[in-house]
Amino acid sequence: MSIATVNPATGKTEQTFDPLDDAELEAKLARASEAAVSYRTTTFAERARWMVTAAELLEGEIPAIAQVMTTEMGKTFASAKGEAAKCAKGLRFFAEHAEGFLADEKVESDATDSRVIYRPMGPVLAVMPWNFPLWQVMRFAAPALMAGNIGLLKHASNVPQTALFIEELFLRAGFPPGVFQTLLIEARRVASVIEDPRVRAVTLTGSEEAGRSVAETAGRAIKKSVLELGGSDPFVVLPSADLDDAVRVAVTARVQNNGQSCIAAKRFIVHGDCYEAFEEAFVTAMASLSVGDPMEPATEIGPLALAPGRDEVAALVDDARDRGAHILCGGAPMDGPGYFYPPTVVTGITAAMRVDSEEVFGPVALLYRVDDAAEALRLANDTGFGLGASVWTHDAAERRLFVEGLDVGMVFVNAMVASTPELPFGGTKRSGYGRELATLGIREFCEAKSVWEA
Ligand code: NAP
Repeated sequence: MSIATVNPATGKTEQTFDPLDDAELEAKLARASEAAVSYRTTTFAERARWMVTAAELLEGEIPAIAQVMTTEMGKTFASAKGEAAKCAKGLRFFAEHAEGFLADEKVESDATDSRVIYRPMGPVLAVMPWNFPLWQVMRFAAPALMAGNIGLLKHASNVPQTALFIEELFLRAGFPPGVFQTLLIEARRVASVIEDPRVRAVTLTGSEEAGRSVAETAGRAIKKSVLELGGSDPFVVLPSADLDDAVRVAVTARVQNNGQSCIAAKRFIVHGDCYEAFEEAFVTAMASLSVGDPMEPATEIGPLALAPGRDEVAALVDDARDRGAHILCGGAPMDGPGYFYPPTVVTGITAAMRVDSEEVFGPVALLYRVDDAAEALRLANDTGFGLGASVWTHDAAERRLFVEGLDVGMVFVNAMVASTPELPFGGTKRSGYGRELATLGIREFCEAKSVWEA
C-alpha cells in the first residue's frame, strides 16, 4: 500500500508521501540508539513535565488534528475530537502514575536487601493500525516514554499525516530529539527494523496476518513482542437486563468508529425470553442511524477507511446471505465515490458462514438467540478470538458465571467494552498476547531486574 492520505468519504487522494530510503531509515535508527543512552537517565519528573506539555499542546489543537484524522480514515469529526481529548488524558495519566507503577519492589529473603527494579529496554518499535490513529499510538507511547524507552512508530500507510503530527508533538513538548520518531516505511520493511540489533522489542496492533509475521521475526531474533489483534466480542443480553439500556449501548458498541473497532461488540447473544423485544428495538435503532459525510455534525456513521475493507465486509455479508442468513437491515454497499456501508443486522447464522468465525470490521451486527445462560456462555466462548466481552444481567450468579467463565482479556458487566488507562488492555487466544495500559502495560517494555544485596 502506498503511503498516502486518501479521503475515504470521497475516494480522492489528498497527499502522497515518499517512504524513507535506506539511508534515512538508518539515520533514524542511529538517532534512536543514541537518544536511548541519555534518555534512560532522565528522571520521572523530567519525563512527566514533557508529557504534560504534550497533553497541553494536544488539548489546544484538538479540532485541527481531529480534522486530519477524519480526512485520513473517515471517523466522524465528533469522535475524532473525543479521541484526541482521551489521548491528552492518557498522557497525563502516565505522567502522574508511571513512577508509582515502576517503583522498586522489596522482597523478603535471606539477603540484607532484595528487590525487583524495573528499567527501560531501549528502542521499541510500534506497528500501529489506522482505526484509532491517535489513541493506539498514545497508549503505547505514553507508558513507553515515561518508562524511559525510545519510541519508533511504523504507522498504517493511510494515516501518514497523523503519524507525523505525533512525532512533532513529542518534539515540541520538549522530549529530546530521537526519543520518539515516525518511520514512514512500507510493511515489508518492518522485519528489517525488528532484526536491527539496536531495536529491543516490538508491539503490533492490527490483523492476525501482520501479527503472525511480526511475531515470527521477533521470535527468530529472540526479542520481546506484544500483539493486540482482532476480536469478535460477544454482547450477551439476559432477561434481568435493563433492555432499553442494553439496546442503546448495543448500537453504540457495534457502530462506534464506523464499526471498525477491535473491541466493538460483534456477536449479540440474546436470551429467548427477551429476544423478540431486543431484536425489534435493535434493528429499528440500527436502521435509523444516519450515514454520510463524517465532517457533518448530524452524521453517526462515516465511510469505512479503505475500499478493500469495505469490499471485505460486503463479501462476508454476501457469503452469509448466500448460505441462508436473514438480513434484517442494510446488507449492501452504498452508492457513491466514498467507501460507505450501512448498518446491517444478520440473523440465522450457522457455522458454515464466514461471519460465524471471522471478524467483521464494519457496522454489521450478528444476532444469535439462546435458551439459557449456559448456552450463552458456550456460544460466547465458541470463537478463536478472546479480546473483550460485554454481559447484561442484574443476576449476581450470572455475573459470576460470566466473569469467571468467559475466555477473554476484558469483561464488562452492564457496560460496553472500552479502553481506559486504569485497566490493562489485551486479549486471549488469537486476539494476541501481552497487555497495554495500567501497571501491566508499562512493565511490558521494562526489564525486571532482580537485585540481591548480601
Ligand atoms: P493491518 O493491516 O494488520 O495493519 C496494522 C499495521 O501493521 C499497519 O501499520 C500495517 O502497515 C502493518 N502491517 C501490515 N502487514 C504487515 C506485515 N506483514 N508485517 C509488518 N507489518 C504489517 O491491520 P488493519 O487492517 O490496519 O487494522 C485492523 C485490525 O486491527 C483488525 O483486525 C482489528 O481488530 C485490529 N485491532 C486490534 C486492536 C487491539 O488492541 N487488539 C486495536 C485496533 C485494531 P501498512 O498500513 O503499511 O500495511
